[in-house]
Amino acid sequence: MYTHQLSIQVADPANMPDAFNEFEFLISSYYTSGQKLGKQHTVYIDGNTLVCIIQAHEETSLSTENNYYVTLRTERLEEFCGNKIQVKQLGKAHEEQPVCTCAKSDFYLLIADQSAIDSPVKCGTCFDVVPLYKLPAYYEHGYAPILGWETNYQAVDTLQIDGEVGEVWATEQMSNPNSELSIQGRAVCAGIEQKTGINTYYYLHNTKENTVEQELDSVCPACQTPWLLTTPLANGIFPFKCDNCRLISAFSANLAGY
Ligand SMILES: [Zn+2]
Ligand SMILES: [Zn+2]
Repeated sequence: MYTHQLSIQVADPANMPDAFNEFEFLISSYYTSGQKLGKQHTVYIDGNTLVCIIQAHEETSLSTENNYYVTLRTERLEEFCGNKIQVKQLGKAHEEQPVCTCAKSDFYLLIADQSAIDSPVKCGTCFDVVPLYKLPAYYEHGYAPILGWETNYQAVDTLQIDGEVGEVWATEQMSNPNSELSIQGRAVCAGIEQKTGINTYYYLHNTKENTVEQELDSVCPACQTPWLLTTPLANGIFPFKCDNCRLISAFSANLAGY
């Protein structure tokens, strides 16, 4: 993950309020294009310069071919400011998070969690992250519906982890293949699959209070067929997979006796 600084000097101070708004629109476009990670950001003013620090998957995330709306917003902003936008790479994260470089992935996995800001699409061959901008545009040149599901998942996961408000409801949303959250996520998977031609699976949270034996005998919660793999995926993290329902899961976090 890399940290980049976007900045632009505003030539006429009278244009600062409008330039500020345009800069915000541009940052939002970088988010829906998958180039910027995480929904949150802060724009600050340094003298007559607008500045925003953003996280991205790659060194080149902001400099490769830009998204349609990013290009449009950049042009408008530069016109307002009478200057060109500057992109500076500030550094990279201490812990490397590899980006998938597979020529073709065996499948994709849609998975998110409370705190991660990385792309929710993982490669089913290397299990590294697939930046959204590497996928064909999902909706209106960007990926807003995928990010919308991710935001919902993070909100629900937060309730589930904090455990004070709505924990039972949140757990059900994450574990039931037909919950509102799962329906939204599985529709996103179907959309990615339709656009890429690559099978796309949905990660289902598993909190069943099973014994190990019950877990090994468990069935896909959507179609009730056995779904234990002979070789678990991703170095043992995902032992369950249903090809009919495009679902993947892990052993329960609540295994009885553990
Ligand atoms: Zn890969
Ligand atoms: Zn199934």
